[in-house]
Amino acid sequence: MAAEVLTAGGASVDLFDAMPSVGRKFLLAGKGGLNLTHGEPFERFVERYGARRADIEPLLAAFGPSRLREWVHELGISTFVGSSGRVFPTDLKAAPLLRAWLHRLRSSGVRFHMRHRWLGWAADEGMQQRLRFMTSRGELLVTAEALVLALGGASWARLGSDGAWVEPLAARGVSIAPLQPSNCGFHVGRPAADGSLTLGWSEHFRSRFAGAPLKNVALSLDREAESKQSGEFVVTENGVEGSLVYALSGRARERIVREGRATLLLDLLPGHSAEQVSSEVARPRGSRSLGTHLKSRLGLSGVKAALLYEVLPRSVIDDPARLAASIKALPLTLSQPRPIDEAISTAGGVRFEALRPGLMLDAVPGVFCAGEMLDWEAPTGGYLLSACFASGVAAALGARHFLQGSRPIARADGSVSPTLAGRNAS
Ligand SMILES: Cc1cc2nc3c(=O)[nH]c(=O)nc-3n(C[C@H](O)[C@H](O)[C@H](O)COP(=O)(O)OP(=O)(O)OC[C@H]3O[C@@H](n4cnc5c(N)ncnc54)[C@H](O)[C@@H]3O)c2cc1C
Repeated sequence: MAAEVLTAGGASVDLFDAMPSVGRKFLLAGKGGLNLTHGEPFERFVERYGARRADIEPLLAAFGPSRLREWVHELGISTFVGSSGRVFPTDLKAAPLLRAWLHRLRSSGVRFHMRHRWLGWAADEGMQQRLRFMTSRGELLVTAEALVLALGGASWARLGSDGAWVEPLAARGVSIAPLQPSNCGFHVGRPAADGSLTLGWSEHFRSRFAGAPLKNVALSLDREAESKQSGEFVVTENGVEGSLVYALSGRARERIVREGRATLLLDLLPGHSAEQVSSEVARPRGSRSLGTHLKSRLGLSGVKAALLYEVLPRSVIDDPARLAASIKALPLTLSQPRPIDEAISTAGGVRFEALRPGLMLDAVPGVFCAGEMLDWEAPTGGYLLSACFASGVAAALGARHFLQGSRPIARADGSVSPTLAGRNAS
């Protein structure tokens, strides 16, 4: 996106990527239908960036969800708004969009250099950027007047984003928040009476229910009733993952850092009030088993019923009032996030405090940063790509401004005007 905006402004652009082809994570996002953005009102949309709203909102104000959809349409790809408000290409594919986009970039003069891994700066850099790239033919030095970095986070390293950029940037004095998993799964722990945690599910539960989805449930982080959200998630070999867990992952991760664990409260029957559940559980069940009773009165069976037995002590299972309360708020203890490489996205990165307007690094003038390598996070729902596109536009506009300012030329009347001539942005 930065290459597109820079080329449109008259800059000569070279685009380098460590991988044999660009957009590999973008193509992976296409496997889930490529959720480009979200159709909700702007005011609600920007709330999704939480503590970083103030930094992301101006970027989205310039290139927001509606403008992004128009941009996709200009590339000949139609979009639709799903029932959840999420926006997708009509064919739910990333490849046709990426193909059309790359064709347009190449036609407008962007030069692509694949298998070029940026290593940092050569020691002798002066006013210009002297960039080091590792290529199949050895190391290459490239000189540029401005540099836009869009190197991604640190998940799915095999697709190119390995977070190795942290070292060269930190060495130049750029402040970087530690990279952490976001929109990620978690390991569960089973609390013992002494407060210690036994990691993972019991063998009995794991062998029967790993991979089982829990649909139409709600989750909240304990003590944070306002965090309650409905949806679905999946039981994994050793924990939980899926959209509902991802939605709480940032807060759960922070809670684990502070307190060593985070407890989610699972509402197995969000469509029932606590009173309804309580009165159904309390009904006499005669000779029927508790499992049959829960299934016939409340429709609780399979993984939902099994989770009650997995998590609750016998004394609670045998107490109708406490069992009913637990069906509405079953505690699931999370012990740690799954590794960052498995995460959908990365939290942490270049701090906004390290950036000047136009997303230029304060410590390295002429270098701009965009995308997931910046220190923000958001839930799934199209918010990730939206902020990546918007920050790509902002970084390019910042670079354009910088290039104009850095190349003053004298007019015939002796006054000075900025121009884009002679630039070579990377
Ligand atoms: C499974 C999955 C599904 C997703 N689905 C969605 C979705 O539906 N909607 C959504 O909004 N978001 C989705 N995301 C997130 C979204 O794909 C990312 O947030 C987005 O791609 C980040 O864009 P980026 O340009 O910042 O980084 P990336 O897409 O990671 O691109 C960074 C590029 O930099 C290159 N690079 C890295 N280091 C170097 C180096 N040193 N030298 C040269 N090149 C380098 C990499 O090869 C890569 O091509 C999904 C992510 C995953 C993992």
